[in-house]
Amino acid sequence: MGGLLTAILLGRAGISTLVIEKKIYPFHKVCGEYISNEVTSYLHSIGLFPLEFSPPKINRLQISSNGGKINEIALPMGGFGISRFRLDHFWYLKALESGVKFKLDTSASSILYKNGLTKVLTNQGTSFEAQVVIGAFGKRSLMDKHLNRSFMRDKSGYVGIKYHIKHPWEPGLIALHGFDHGYCGISMIEEEKLNLCYLINRSYLRKHGDIDSLEKNVLSQNPFLAPILASSERLFTKPLVINEISFAPKKVIENHILMIGDAAGMITPLCGNGMAMAIHSAKILAPKVTRFFQQKSYVREQMEDDYKMEWHRKFSRRLLAGRYLQSLFHHKLAAEVLVQVTRIPYLAQWMVRQTHGVEL
Ligand SMILES: Cc1cc2nc3c(=O)[nH]c(=O)nc-3n(C[C@H](O)[C@H](O)[C@H](O)COP(=O)(O)OP(=O)(O)OC[C@H]3O[C@@H](n4cnc5c(N)ncnc54)[C@H](O)[C@@H]3O)c2cc1C
Repeated sequence: MGGLLTAILLGRAGISTLVIEKKIYPFHKVCGEYISNEVTSYLHSIGLFPLEFSPPKINRLQISSNGGKINEIALPMGGFGISRFRLDHFWYLKALESGVKFKLDTSASSILYKNGLTKVLTNQGTSFEAQVVIGAFGKRSLMDKHLNRSFMRDKSGYVGIKYHIKHPWEPGLIALHGFDHGYCGISMIEEEKLNLCYLINRSYLRKHGDIDSLEKNVLSQNPFLAPILASSERLFTKPLVINEISFAPKKVIENHILMIGDAAGMITPLCGNGMAMAIHSAKILAPKVTRFFQQKSYVREQMEDDYKMEWHRKFSRRLLAGRYLQSLFHHKLAAEVLVQVTRIPYLAQWMVRQTHGVEL
């Protein structure tokens, strides 16, 4: 999504832009599909808010623990819910309108930087040369392996599982239900569907063999989650699964590739603002790339330094807060205490503020 937005902004600035995407739009993604309102006014201002899908507004967080504790807090900034299936496709069409070219169903497999030009090779045997290459390949990609990025050696991987359901629900509510070694988010998206998405330590899925038994034996121990899992109508034939999610720090620039979104650093889903960060990073990167093309005196080193500095200023602290909060949620006792702590309004709001940015 960070790649689509950057491409739209560059296309609108008249810069010849190509997106290499390994899938074909529209497609589903493992994602909680709750977007923080920190990006809402910005999306309206550039005509990219998905108004036609009437995304529900979300402004209350319900948080529960395995031990049966539950609490609800207001989300002062709030957000909205929309599936990636709809949103990414909507932006893909906007990108085409902005003159962006696409190579779909194509994976970027390696890159070579030489004398100010980068050659990108694909799994189709084709190659493309560009003055600027942006790494928008998400949390874990073939490109990370090719670049030998250090987080690829991080073995503390998580698994993300997602599907859509139908179940009675209050549109303004997002629930975060903790369970042994994981947590599950539920919130409304378009057409009154619900997104159900959870994160769990990889070893737990292995231990329980399959998703059905994991949900019956682990997730259903949470008394608030059990009835939803047992009685909701499932809208996917089978859940989407992604493996080996790492929240380890990453470099913002590698081999002159300017990373955005999850490729630059992934915030824990618990915070519900990875998409806002992808959008935000596109917003800060696109004008710098535009300036690089339009102003001769604005050289590559300056563009890279400016971006790196602004990225760290905007995101480093919240990534750290997210990592810390997630480690608490994965710990049985700490998760119980965390739910109790959210009963203190000042502390609850403080925690939300630490992991969120301000309006763009
Ligand atoms: C379980 C879970 C729940 C989450 N819930 C939320 C939430 O509720 N709210 C929120 O804001 N964030 C959430 N997030 C985070 C959010 O999904 C990401 O932060 C966001 O998608 C990042 O956008 P991106 O543009 O960096 O990457 P992506 O949106 O992942 O896009 C990367 C794209 O690159 C393509 N690609 C990858 N490798 C290649 C290659 N080699 N060649 C060509 N194409 C390639 C992929 O197909 C994909 O389309 C969640 C994440 C997880 C794991």
